[in-house]
Amino acid sequence: MNLETHLTFDDVLLTPQYSNIKSRREVTLNAELSEGLELRVPIVSAPMDTVCGGLMAARLAEFGALGIVHRYNTIEKQTEIVSKASEDGLKNVGAAIGITGDYIERAGALVEAGVSVLCLDVAHGDHILMHVGAHNIVDKFGHKVHIMAGNIATYTGALTLAQIGVDSLRVGIGGGSICSTRIQTGHGMPTLASVIECVRTKEKFPDLKIIADGGIKTSGDMVKALAAGADFVMVGSLLAGTTEAPGDVIHKGGETYKSYRGMASKDAQMDWRGKTSSLEGVATVIPYKGAVFPVLEGLENGIRSGLSYSGARNLQELRENARFIRQTASGLSESNTHIMWRY
Ligand code: IMP
Repeated sequence: MNLETHLTFDDVLLTPQYSNIKSRREVTLNAELSEGLELRVPIVSAPMDTVCGGLMAARLAEFGALGIVHRYNTIEKQTEIVSKASEDGLKNVGAAIGITGDYIERAGALVEAGVSVLCLDVAHGDHILMHVGAHNIVDKFGHKVHIMAGNIATYTGALTLAQIGVDSLRVGIGGGSICSTRIQTGHGMPTLASVIECVRTKEKFPDLKIIADGGIKTSGDMVKALAAGADFVMVGSLLAGTTEAPGDVIHKGGETYKSYRGMASKDAQMDWRGKTSSLEGVATVIPYKGAVFPVLEGLENGIRSGLSYSGARNLQELRENARFIRQTASGLSESNTHIMWRY
């Protein structure tokens, strides 16, 4: 066997470049999903029940990012959340749908309610059921709203969905912080490598947008994904644990937490389906972070600073200027703050 090496975020660094950017305010992070659908920062929420409901979607829209309201709800409840965002005058809101059962009815109700993005949300997107579902949704609603689909990890998976006519792809399988797909099934692909591979689809479909999804831990990882050609980053754990994430604050031993769980975890499956099948996620609690705005501001500042280090005033220049190098295990330990280990 001649095996390829596929790298992910911690394996690489971007080398600093000459910069004439005097202030991070000179940097713009605007990114367009479709004509007329532009975000101020290229951050999209994961459609998970401990990440994005109505409150999170509204705050993300206010910030200039995008929330995708999870689909683990009745059609009425999900539609009500989407209409309430629209009523508040916040124009960008996405909503997830499945690819079987009531998905066409759900999509129709969400479009009627004013959704801007329909996200076909399944674990293995290079699958016949996804291809049929995506075809049906593109056919019926593609002229009205942006169609996002995923997840896929390979060039062929990306190409098939692009040929069907979806507008954007969630790229990454098995990299999510609460994901156990690779442990359970032996399948997956490092998220950065998937992005690098799937970005090639743009040679044939220049308007297709690539969304790096899974395992993004820091603004530095976001910069690496965007430099590798992703147009947007999708995050779960970075937004979970905030006030706006669905779920109550948990008090334990004098500390405060919120729940964060994979949608294929036992807890989530029992809550939404009343039974379990393949368990490919875990449920946990993470420290309560307070309001989401400061979290988003911190991420935005990190990305802006990242562009400045690459001498880039916008995301296009970042992609053009980026010079990746591979780092060793010693490089990685030097990259992480390490003073506490020595003193
Ligand atoms: P995070 O940003 O690393 O926390 O990853 C979030 C991503 O994990 C989501 O956008 C999904 O693509 C993925 N995901 C969500 N739930 C599960 C699960 O139960 N198993 C595997 N992957 C999941």
